[in-house]
Amino acid sequence: MLNYQAILEEIHTSLKKTKNTGEIASYIPELANVPKNKLGIHLQLITGENYSVGDASEKFSIQSISKVLSLAKAFQLVGNDLWKRVDVEPSGNPFNHLSLLELEDGIPRNPLINSGAIVIADVLLSHLKNPKEDFLNFVRELTHDETISYNEEIAESERVTGFNNYAAANLLKAYGNLHNKVEDVLDFYFHQCSIMMDCRQLTNAFFVFAHKGKCLKDVQHLTSSQVKRINAIMLTCGFYDEAGEFAFEVGLPGKSGVGGGIVALLPHCFTIATWAPALNPKGNSYLGMQALEQFTTKTKLSIF
Ligand code: GLN
Repeated sequence: MLNYQAILEEIHTSLKKTKNTGEIASYIPELANVPKNKLGIHLQLITGENYSVGDASEKFSIQSISKVLSLAKAFQLVGNDLWKRVDVEPSGNPFNHLSLLELEDGIPRNPLINSGAIVIADVLLSHLKNPKEDFLNFVRELTHDETISYNEEIAESERVTGFNNYAAANLLKAYGNLHNKVEDVLDFYFHQCSIMMDCRQLTNAFFVFAHKGKCLKDVQHLTSSQVKRINAIMLTCGFYDEAGEFAFEVGLPGKSGVGGGIVALLPHCFTIATWAPALNPKGNSYLGMQALEQFTTKTKLSIF
């Protein structure tokens, strides 16, 4: 039996000694206030054991990690019709690339780049009665945690600086792939990105993807086929133009956010979340990527 606690501690100690050349995301001004030297890791086994190290219980803005949760809700609501509005191919471009221009008929390449997530936000707006409230409730249900909330300051900070996202949403609207008002869709999108969670809460939220669609309390939220597809999208698209590198180094489906979080999972085995706010040039957590590489190397647990 592996000593998971000792493995997490070894990783934490070695990374604390590493020179952290990453940079905090400052294009969303509120994110720039986070101290650079934070590092937390939380591991949750499918059998219920939990292991934690460092700043794993400090909350941070989950940013693009929320795109997997909004995708899950939209897939649950509309099923395979979703794929008429968004494709499932890796983009090879940064998250905020206006790659929509490359595409025919305004269909974003996948739901985890910004243009794809904006289409997913539009689908949720069309199908949920009280979109922001209902989506937050979905996240709370998955996580079994009523304390999870939006961070209004971060959402507002992104709203006033989110010119790329306005450009993407306007293009989608021009192509007819946005059914609601640009302002309303982006208000929802900026709020979903602003959700605050700690590493443990992230492993709770993503448990459903490691457990055939069932959350921690065994409630079936998604079918196992839907989960298989979402995991495939995370593996191929979860790290933008570094998805190949993450599969190569870590070998797990996962998702990063510019708040410095990464969550990854091994189906039927575990979910793991890291938080280290300084990002590498591709916008993924510099130390988080290394922590996960060390974890799958030391434990020999990856999908490969
Ligand atoms: N809210 C951020 C944006 O749209 C999310 C980016 C990310 O986490 N990669 O720019």
